[in-house]
Amino acid sequence: MSAAENSISPSAAAREFLAREHQLLIGGEWVGPAAGGSIEVTDPASEARIATVSLGDATDIDRAVQAARAALRGEWSRLTSYEREALINRLADQLIANLELLTELEVLDNGMPRMAAQYSIAKFGGDFLRYYAGWATKIHGETIPVSPQDSRNGDSLTYTRREPIGVVGAIIPWNAPLVMATLKLAPALAAGCTVVLKPAEQTPLTALLLGELVRKAGFPPGVVNIVPGYGESAGAALAAHPDVDKIAFTGSTEVGRKIINAAAGNLKRVTLELGGKSPMVVFPDADLERVVPGATRGAFFLQGQNCMAGTRLFVHEDVFDRVVEGVAAMAGSFRLGPGLDPQSDLGPLISAEQRERVAGYVAAGREAGAELVCGGEAPSGKGYFFRPTLFARTNMDMKIAREEIFGPVLCAQSFSDSDLQALADEVNSTIYGLSGSVWTRDIAVAHRMAAMIDSGQVSINCHAAVDPAIPFGGNRQSGWGREFGREGLDPYLKTKATTVLF
Ligand code: NAP
Ligand code: MG
Repeated sequence: MSAAENSISPSAAAREFLAREHQLLIGGEWVGPAAGGSIEVTDPASEARIATVSLGDATDIDRAVQAARAALRGEWSRLTSYEREALINRLADQLIANLELLTELEVLDNGMPRMAAQYSIAKFGGDFLRYYAGWATKIHGETIPVSPQDSRNGDSLTYTRREPIGVVGAIIPWNAPLVMATLKLAPALAAGCTVVLKPAEQTPLTALLLGELVRKAGFPPGVVNIVPGYGESAGAALAAHPDVDKIAFTGSTEVGRKIINAAAGNLKRVTLELGGKSPMVVFPDADLERVVPGATRGAFFLQGQNCMAGTRLFVHEDVFDRVVEGVAAMAGSFRLGPGLDPQSDLGPLISAEQRERVAGYVAAGREAGAELVCGGEAPSGKGYFFRPTLFARTNMDMKIAREEIFGPVLCAQSFSDSDLQALADEVNSTIYGLSGSVWTRDIAVAHRMAAMIDSGQVSINCHAAVDPAIPFGGNRQSGWGREFGREGLDPYLKTKATTVLF
């Protein structure tokens, strides 16, 4: 199977959007960057340049932070929670009304298949905004019954208020660009914060269209500012800015560490959604009809460029060969091609650099003696494609089993031990703890193993079950804090206790 030669042409609406001049959204206006630079945006399926986007730097970040600070004190702060809810819902309406165009731009910018883009934008764009819109009217403090400090002077009352944390800097990766943007915007806006968003340099397009939709929805100027730029300039400036109150970051563990250091200056709050190396643990009684497609999709969704990807498959020795054969057959049947082509099951990787990285890991796996069952190479032709790759007989001493590859590489190893704790220790022997899954019909084993996996999220008989209402985040070096659900609102709020004596 080779990468399809001809991509399906973009629609007239997409072509018109791509050809536009793309500026920075600061204070409700599209403005040129202070230094006048630009970024070339590439379609990873064709390697063709498809758009030119203004490049923001530290000066632009500073302007955007000032606009966000001003907006925090302006009309936005005087809106009722019902008005905030209505605005966020209007943004969700805009997003769904523009779903086709957003989908197409996401596919062209990131490379993911159309179905994946459409589903994720509707679910984690639209539904996510609506979920948090509902929270805007449900944020409140408590009344605390303390005894009067001095009864001769009367009674006392203490109440708490939940206030917006302030100006939020959101820094996001390229693997699911629009979804990452809405994951940050939705809780921030529900809480009453203002935002400066820096999309990934490789994938700024849907964030820019989102900026236009924010304007159409009627948000006051400066509530949402969008500044594409490089991580080491624009991103670093945002993380270090003394007038930013919180950074919401999704990206690599390595850059997460830099964010923490940069944020130390004004001790801004930080949440981090970082890398993963998530396990899928298959017991011998599992329903293999579900395991094979579930594990294959769990590993290769978004070409494995997915923080929750199940990249380590632990299979009981009794069913190891059957599971490995099944996964290899399904992975081998996936058609690689441009995301706009409905025939494509898997798109390209994001860049030539990423493909090099993946190829380097595959070479390391071979050298370490892992058994290459399928894939392991890039097809010929244009585009940064890489075949879905399965290694069997791996072990946790191998680099491919320990490190996050962020590409379509799955490592399978067998277990025989009936000692669940020993198995869990092996499963937990990485620096990460983001997601994971357990596959069995035995409910006791399922719940015991799920409890033993040291991850923010574990699924039973499916992998990476995500929903706006389900808390999501990493343990250990997979991150700080939780996004999604009620807990996902907390990092955008601060509590004030007020005590009155009367
Ligand atoms: P990355 O290199 O860490 O970049 C993420 C973002 O940080 C980009 O916008 C990047 O800018 C910016 N950045 C880079 N250096 C910076 C600095 N010194 N200061 C401030 N910002 C900086 O990650 P990536 O390669 O884009 O994405 C892949 C990683 O994201 C993987 O490790 C993956 O596991 C993780 N991820 C985690 C989750 C999760 O929810 N846990 C979800 C998706 C992805 P540029 O655009 O210039 O690179
Ligand atoms: Mg990057």
